[in-house]
Amino acid sequence: MARFPALFLGHGNPMNAIQPSEHTRAWERIAGELPRPKAILCVSAHWYVAGARVSAEERPRTIHDFGGFPRALYQVQYPAPGSPKLAARVVDLLGPTPVEMDTRWGLDHGTWSLLVHLYPKADIPVVQLGIDETLAASEHFELGRRLAPLRDEEVLVLGSGDVVHNLHAYAWGQHPQDPYDWAVEFEDRIRALIEAREYQAVAAYEDLGRPAALSVPTPDHFLPLLYVLGVASKEEPISFPVAGFDGGSVSMLGIRFG
Ligand code: ZN
Repeated sequence: MARFPALFLGHGNPMNAIQPSEHTRAWERIAGELPRPKAILCVSAHWYVAGARVSAEERPRTIHDFGGFPRALYQVQYPAPGSPKLAARVVDLLGPTPVEMDTRWGLDHGTWSLLVHLYPKADIPVVQLGIDETLAASEHFELGRRLAPLRDEEVLVLGSGDVVHNLHAYAWGQHPQDPYDWAVEFEDRIRALIEAREYQAVAAYEDLGRPAALSVPTPDHFLPLLYVLGVASKEEPISFPVAGFDGGSVSMLGIRFG
């Protein structure tokens, strides 16, 4: 069995769940090109908490973890089953780091705003891995490396965040906003480092100065990428099947490994 491809996707605005666009069509296309996974492990930017945890419910609930959006977005349900078995496997792989088997969170919009497009039937088990906010970026990369065996077990490892995510600069109105220079510069640097397979340097993104500080004002949306880089190998093909910016300051970059 070949190693299962791994994905990082920029999820952007929660409205992407219900508003078709070139990005959502690209997500559909990507899933169509993948073999069918046995299960999905999603590292979502929106489960950024003190302590490592993994969702272990049989039937995770769909949570609407945002405010001020249209009613239609609150009505979205993504009734995929969970997989306590995969959750336990993740706990095993991440050891000796303690990871809590969580039964309270469910699936947040970082996960379902993508999966409604990737797997609209919601018939593949989904487990979420939380991001421990007390760890350094390099430690998240190391945790990701421990998850690499999942790719030999037909599990899709999916990172859901945004390489550039600055909501202070984001153009919320309807007028189009060209991407900011610092956003383009940072995304270009990260993309070049990934193409050069310099994954440790991506984990050291804070060294990239002002463009990094503006593009990653808080680490939550960047860190899911480090888990995907952790499971990536040095030899496999890398492609960027989604590109572009939303609102000038949110990168929609998507990356496929394998
Ligand atoms: Zn988000």
